[in-house]
Amino acid sequence: MNEELTMDRIVNLCRNRGFIFPGSEIYGGLANTWDYGPLGARLKNNVKEAWRRRFIQERHNSFEVDADILMNPRVWEASGHVGSFSDPLLDCRSCKMRFRADNLIDEFDPEAHADAMTKEQMFDYIKAHHIPCPNCGKHDFTDIREFNLMFQTFRGVTNDAKSVIYLRPENAQGEYVNYLNVMRSMRAKVPFSIGQIGKAFRNEITPGNFTFRTIEFEQMEFQTFCKPGDDIEHYEYFKNYGRQFFEDLGLAADHLRFHDHEKLAHYAKAACDIEYLFPSIGWGEINGTHDRTDFDLSRHQEYSGENMSYLDPYTNERYIPYIVESTYGLDRTVLALLCEAYDEEVIDEAKNDVRVVLHLKPAMAPIKASVLPLSKKLGAKAMEIRDELAKHFMVDYDDAGSIGKRYRRADEIGTPFCVTYDFDSETDGCVTVRDRDSMEQVRIPVAELRSYIEKSLQF
Ligand SMILES: [Zn+2]
Repeated sequence: MNEELTMDRIVNLCRNRGFIFPGSEIYGGLANTWDYGPLGARLKNNVKEAWRRRFIQERHNSFEVDADILMNPRVWEASGHVGSFSDPLLDCRSCKMRFRADNLIDEFDPEAHADAMTKEQMFDYIKAHHIPCPNCGKHDFTDIREFNLMFQTFRGVTNDAKSVIYLRPENAQGEYVNYLNVMRSMRAKVPFSIGQIGKAFRNEITPGNFTFRTIEFEQMEFQTFCKPGDDIEHYEYFKNYGRQFFEDLGLAADHLRFHDHEKLAHYAKAACDIEYLFPSIGWGEINGTHDRTDFDLSRHQEYSGENMSYLDPYTNERYIPYIVESTYGLDRTVLALLCEAYDEEVIDEAKNDVRVVLHLKPAMAPIKASVLPLSKKLGAKAMEIRDELAKHFMVDYDDAGSIGKRYRRADEIGTPFCVTYDFDSETDGCVTVRDRDSMEQVRIPVAELRSYIEKSLQF
């Protein structure tokens, strides 16, 4: 990552090269929604596949589920989201803009510690300090109201309280409510894990910073059900496992750090984030690992009436398992990979020649190779090579402009290899393969091309 890199450059590259577009753009957009374009969708899928490999495929006693976004509303009562998952909001009576009370206080005085204040204390503080509206400058606010962050909609044709249904604000409950199903159907024994990749929604009033904070987002979640007493060991293990996973994806070790929480949620015994050093944003959370104790399963036992306990077949002990949760923000991981990979390299200072390159790990790169015929006359043969490689991985074909320009286009989207088919290829059966990072070129037989590229794709 370039030290002077700003998020604007990432946003521009993403938009111009098909990684990420503003949501509903032709209608003027919808604040804090983003659509992944052809290359962004590939990159995102590559991250998911890497996660599946490390968390489901390579692990013992690890199971993936794909639960529905819509769940019985009682789930959110049991989880505590109906009662206490909210932001303190107030409106400016003068200009009708809505703000978070804690944000107004934090921006007025970062030392004021709004996060430790009650609703009443925040109201008194705003009044006492005569904090003005950031939009119109007046000081004329409504009372503070708690605004639930869950997206709410109605099931069926009646819009009454009985038909309220929520878009899930986190994936975890889909794993918790299937704990008994997975254990029984997979004959799982504690400790075992349930993972899930999926979308979640939070109706936040002040999101921002590109895809770092959005109202719709995707998580890769991993819940480990363990014996009480073994929880801290699992918690420490998954913190480190997570950090290693990020390094394996390609994030630099010195751009990652642990952030242990001192202030814990009521259900948690220990909590730690893994943070990444983003350009413009600074350190931001990309993973959260929590020791949730038996809170979740106890609550679901209480609210559902189902017995959530586990009978240890070896010791005959019966207990409610503790849960160690490790959640990965998929959109944030993708953003971190793009920031990490982005570079502007000076090729020739005198000519002011700079190349933009994404040093993505080949396993993460959206396109693995770009096939370039030296002349359009060689197009048919080059296309045959492209079509053969495309049976195994994503391949591009580019016959427009000079070879140098085509290299640059491939560099900019992180394509690890450019394969040039030239006039000699006809006779010697070889192609020139140019490496994205070193820019070195090697001549290799077409028959060896696939295995040459595939060996770099290991994750
Ligand atoms: Zn105002």
